This record gives sequence, structure tokens and C-alpha cells, in this order.
Amino acid sequence: MTLAQRIDHTCGRITAAMDACGRRDRCVLELAVKTRTPDTCREAARLLAERELPVLLGHNRVQEARATAEAIREVPGARIHLIGPLQSNKVNQALGAVDLIETVDSTELVERLDHRVGRRFPVFVQVNTSGEPSKHGCAPQDIPGIVAAVEMASHLYLHGFMTVGLHSAEESAVRESYARLRHVRDSAAERLCTTDGDLALSMGMSADLEWAIAEGATIVRVGSAVFGPRPPLP
Ligand SMILES: *Cc1c(COP(=O)(O)O)cnc(C)c1O
Repeated sequence: MTLAQRIDHTCGRITAAMDACGRRDRCVLELAVKTRTPDTCREAARLLAERELPVLLGHNRVQEARATAEAIREVPGARIHLIGPLQSNKVNQALGAVDLIETVDSTELVERLDHRVGRRFPVFVQVNTSGEPSKHGCAPQDIPGIVAAVEMASHLYLHGFMTVGLHSAEESAVRESYARLRHVRDSAAERLCTTDGDLALSMGMSADLEWAIAEGATIVRVGSAVFGPRPPLP
């Protein structure tokens, strides 16, 4: 299959999953581009634009976001998210390359970003919903403090939540981790007196996007189903 065909196939999966649970809102395909070349990133962005889909690409590493941003931004309306962990010494570089950081997981990072950013800037709080020690994201009990720090920030604002779900083939267990993030989003929306439609839920990947959509995902981050097997991440 070509890149275009794999994007179409993935969009078909998203539509079918939305229909299967009767959802009428929207779920956006975010392409997790990992270490792909600038040419591949630009091509993928073009294919999304051609289909009149939101042009959204996610990068795991600041360095790769910087190396590909110029190519990606040749496509009008393209947006780049950081979906991998952000080290504090990369904050300035990240803010220069991406439009949103999905991986805010500590009050220290909130403060550092807010101090450096100098413009209104959206973030997602990343939550470890599976309890697996290998996973990034804050522990559930740390969420209120981090959300409060974002609320108090001058420039940052909360635009959603992100998680990497449980790595398992067992549907109920995986869905439980996604449902947990939905509950987090719902209670944040209530506390902030906003409608939950204003807060995104970024969850679900190639293997389990249907389960994430059934639990309310508004963004699914898809890599291997579109680009082929994952390149190794050091
Ligand atoms: C690689 C990656 C994805 C996409 O995973 P696939 O299984 O290749 O679809 C999504 N989110 C994050 C944070 C990733 O690192």
C-alpha cells in the first residue's frame, strides 16, 4: 500500500469506530512521525491537506521536530505537536518548533514553559493511566496540582489530556485506562466550568484506536499503521 492508501485505510477505521459507538463529534488523526525524513513528513502533511483533514503531525523528540518543521510548514495550516517527553534543557527549542505540547507532566515543567514562552500557548497534561512504571505522564493524584499550575500560568492554557494506554491485547483492561483519562477530562471540565468539548482527549494508537474512540478519544496518534513498522527510538 502507498502512504495515501494507508492514510485512507486509517481514516476508514476511525470513521467505522465513530459510527460503531454512535459518536457525532469528531476524532482527528494525528500522524506520529517519529524519525521520518522531512520529505516524508511533508508528503504526509500534503496528503492530509488534500483530503481536507486537519494537518496534524506529532513528534517524539524536539530535535526531530526542529529538523522537519520547515518542510511540514510548507503545507498551509499544518500543526506540530510534541508527543514525547520534554527535558527541561530543551524547553526553548521545543517552544520554537511546535504549536502544542501534549506531554506536560509536572508543575516544574508548567512553570518553566510559562516563564519562557511569551505568547499564549496550549498544553495537554499527560497522565500515566496504566500505572506501568515504564510510561511517562503524571500519576493521577498529581493532576489537580498540575492543572492548577496551568490555570495560574500567564501564557499557558489547558487544552486537553493525553495518555499512552496500557500495552495489552485485553480490550477491557486497555479501555479501562482510556476511560480513566476521560474521567480526568470530565472532572477538569467541571472544575474549570468549561464544556468537555473544549478539552481534547489524545489517546489511542495503531493497535487500539477503536478502543480509544469507544472511550471518547478526540485525537488518535497513529504511526506504524500509516508509515510501517516503528523505527527504533533510542
Ligand atoms: C509512536 C507513538 C505513537 C504511535 O504508535 P503506533 O503504534 O506506531 O501507531 C503514538 N503516541 C506516542 C507517544 C508514540 O511514541
